[in-house]
Amino acid sequence: MTLDITTLRVAFGAVAITLLVLFYTVAFRQTRSAYSAWWCAAILFFCAGSSLYLFDGTQHQIWANPAANTLSVLGTVSVWAGARTLRAGRPGRLQLAAGPLLTLLASALDSPATNTWSGGAVFLGMMSLAIGLASWELWRLPSSYSRVQAPLATASGVVAVLYLVRCIAFVAGGPDGSVFSTFFDSSITVLVTLVLLVIVSFSAAALSAEQIAADLRMRADRDALTGLLNRAGFLDLAHLHVDRLARTERPGALVLADLDFFKTINDTHGHAAGDSVLRAFARSCSETVRATDLVGRYGGEEFIFLLPGASVSRAEDITRDISLALRVHPAPGGFVMPTVSYGISSIEASGYDLDAAIAAADRALYEAKAGGRDRSVRALGPTHGTLDGSP
Ligand code: GH3
Ligand code: MG
Ligand code: MG
Repeated sequence: MTLDITTLRVAFGAVAITLLVLFYTVAFRQTRSAYSAWWCAAILFFCAGSSLYLFDGTQHQIWANPAANTLSVLGTVSVWAGARTLRAGRPGRLQLAAGPLLTLLASALDSPATNTWSGGAVFLGMMSLAIGLASWELWRLPSSYSRVQAPLATASGVVAVLYLVRCIAFVAGGPDGSVFSTFFDSSITVLVTLVLLVIVSFSAAALSAEQIAADLRMRADRDALTGLLNRAGFLDLAHLHVDRLARTERPGALVLADLDFFKTINDTHGHAAGDSVLRAFARSCSETVRATDLVGRYGGEEFIFLLPGASVSRAEDITRDISLALRVHPAPGGFVMPTVSYGISSIEASGYDLDAAIAAADRALYEAKAGGRDRSVRALGPTHGTLDGSP
């Protein structure tokens, strides 16, 4: 059976346009997620590319064929860019433009007036590379990310391999070679791409919704200025950690930190300088604590840490290291970084009650302020005492 390539391309165009309209109204308009925007762009590029191949064999082939190759590669590059937004942000402009530009160059320089396969090897190679990168990005997502990522990654992986084998067959035997013309001609690829388009559009709608949900969760838990957990995000996680410490009867420390005379930085150097000090303090904390410790912005210039497994004296060492790290941070206006006061309480001495531990640390912080600032004070208890933080 010989499939008529022109009919297939027209059918492909009709299905692609229908998918684009459905996907745009159902997924993109509702979620406006980056992933669904890239997928809309990909369908548009595929559609435009496929339409231009209809000029093959006419006098317009000279420009239409290189343009069609380039648009198809742009389509797969958009699939890659979309997949990447799920994990690490979109690729750089140069990374996005390199494949399509190379394809355009190779197709334009390879007698496109007479050769319907002008630049074929570069085109097939770029298609395989971009869709393979999309598949790789999807595999690298944590397995908990989505139910549809595995079928999506598999589908794009299969297409990447198909294009790679086509590329090898093309380089080995040319477009008229028996392997290429029997197994990998355009009609089979159009059919496979059509099936892929339907699978991906369907799954992409689900993924877009999940991406928005993840983004909202992230924004709800994080402080926009410092990137640390915000108060609610910290408290949610801290409750879980404290429950786990209680079950295993392990120690833990809770620390409240407050920058000393922070208001004078705002008053003297401006609010932007104050913001940069808050960011510098957040960085000093993140660089000093372990990955398993929790750090949050409690409000204004107050911060809160939960150090699971740490004793109160270990917590004192950590506060000293954080203050040291802040002191050596370069201040944007050349002013001296503020000192910090800390109140420290023990989770086990507070009966594994997070609210009680915070209240105890707050009283200790008040004492640290009253005692002259720039120091850590332990909450009242068997280990009550003061540690002067000055060098
Ligand atoms: P103390 O040593 O007693 O803690 O004095 P302080 O000046 O640090 O404390 P105070 O509570 O008087 O002032 C805190 C200031 O923090 C007031 C407020 O304008 C400022 N602040 C709170 N949030 C932000 C913020 O996001 N950015 C900036 N730049 N300033 C903030
Ligand atoms: Mg304060
Ligand atoms: Mg303060």
